Amino acid sequence: MVSTPVPALDNSGRQYLPNFDTATPSPNQYLLPLTARNNEHDHLEIGGCDVATLVEQFGSPLYILDEETLRTACRQYRDAFSKYYPGESLVIYASKAWNCLAVCAVVASEGLGLDVVSGGELYTALQAGVPADTIYLHGNNKSVEELALAVSAGCTIVVDNWHELQNLVAIAADSETSETSETAAAQPIRILLRLTPGIECHTHEYIRTGHLDSKFGFDPEQLDEVFAYVSQQPALLCVGLHAHIGSQIFELQAHQDLTGVMVQWLAKATQYGLPISELDIGGGLGIRYTESDDPPSIDEWVKVVCEGIIRACEQQGVALPRLISEPGRSLIGPACVTAYRMGGQKTVPGIRTYVTVDGGMSDNPRPITYQSVYRALVANKLSAPLTESVAIAGKHCESGDIVIKQAQIPATQPGDVLVVMGTGAYNYSMSSNYNRLPRPAAVLVNQGDASLILQRETVEDLTRQDRLPERLIRRDA
Ligand SMILES: *Cc1c(COP(=O)(O)O)cnc(C)c1O
Repeated sequence: MVSTPVPALDNSGRQYLPNFDTATPSPNQYLLPLTARNNEHDHLEIGGCDVATLVEQFGSPLYILDEETLRTACRQYRDAFSKYYPGESLVIYASKAWNCLAVCAVVASEGLGLDVVSGGELYTALQAGVPADTIYLHGNNKSVEELALAVSAGCTIVVDNWHELQNLVAIAADSETSETSETAAAQPIRILLRLTPGIECHTHEYIRTGHLDSKFGFDPEQLDEVFAYVSQQPALLCVGLHAHIGSQIFELQAHQDLTGVMVQWLAKATQYGLPISELDIGGGLGIRYTESDDPPSIDEWVKVVCEGIIRACEQQGVALPRLISEPGRSLIGPACVTAYRMGGQKTVPGIRTYVTVDGGMSDNPRPITYQSVYRALVANKLSAPLTESVAIAGKHCESGDIVIKQAQIPATQPGDVLVVMGTGAYNYSMSSNYNRLPRPAAVLVNQGDASLILQRETVEDLTRQDRLPERLIRRDA
């Protein structure tokens, strides 16, 4: 089979095909998955599978997840930590980016842990066989049920606020009184404390979390109070501190600053005799959605984080902590594309041409939520000249449901396959049934094999939880 490597950002206007100039391309710096190729039919191929054929087989819209790109990103994070950090480290995948059984299983098989933010994500992770001692539960309003499930499974809780600390103490007291055997003393609950570092970073307002006016985490002003309280709770084993400053971040400075702040907190914790040995620096490394995005590589990000922690620990005279990081977007974002069938077009003379696709804000709510910009190509006309400047419109009943405001594409016809790149993170996981559209299917591709990992929803799925009260059932119909 003749297939030429597609990879290399081509700004000539033809297509966005990356041209790998390094032996270890960092997936977050490319628009397409690492296995993207232009095959002998002039079709886009990912993971050895022809994208147009996948759409024939599995329907559209279709999330196409490239296993090799996802695994490569996992390994690059792990390898970089072993290279730059002499202490222990653990990379945990922020699974809210895309949480489903297969994704959890792939990531765990690469030796990563998992960060979950709800009982549903936790349940999925456990069902996927992720070891509980590598699962961290986040959230600013965890329910008692969510906390109890995580505690009984043996996960670590990243405590966000006072209310939650008190709930955990109560849960521990409950399980102690229900303990029948005197010898089986309950294990203390393993916790990290989440703090708001007061670090500004330049990203969208809704995805910034580190500035002081945030709903997440303890105010560092209360650090002494929190440490004093926690140090007196035998039911709680406070092993570390956590901070997450935001998402889609391109400057390394923000995380470098964060290392200094967190090591200061660490030094303070030792005054309270807390057995704190973990620092969790959060996630946030950005990815390339367009040719103008220029994120650092995974290796560069990890290097800055490790060097920052090592330097700050030397200055403060504290031992190197177990270093945890929580990448989400940069692990899975670049590994997936969404394929749509194109529909009709509408030209508003002198203004714009709208080209429709058979999905939109229900499978990718990021453009309408964050004004996110994406790039697209036509998978079955890969080398055709890009003669059209169009808006790619979703099919939802919202004027704002525009997948891409300005796309350069070849002349197309209904039925052509449009591929939107970089849709692995916060697409499926934020998808909805708006307008009662069934959620798309997802396939995991690898070396010519395509495995269904999310079945396409059906109209029966859409009414599964509906209940029609007896008095509304029409007998006359
Ligand atoms: C969302 C989130 C992450 C992951 O952020 P990315 O930008 O996707 O890497 C990590 N940690 C916490 C606590 C988060 O809320």
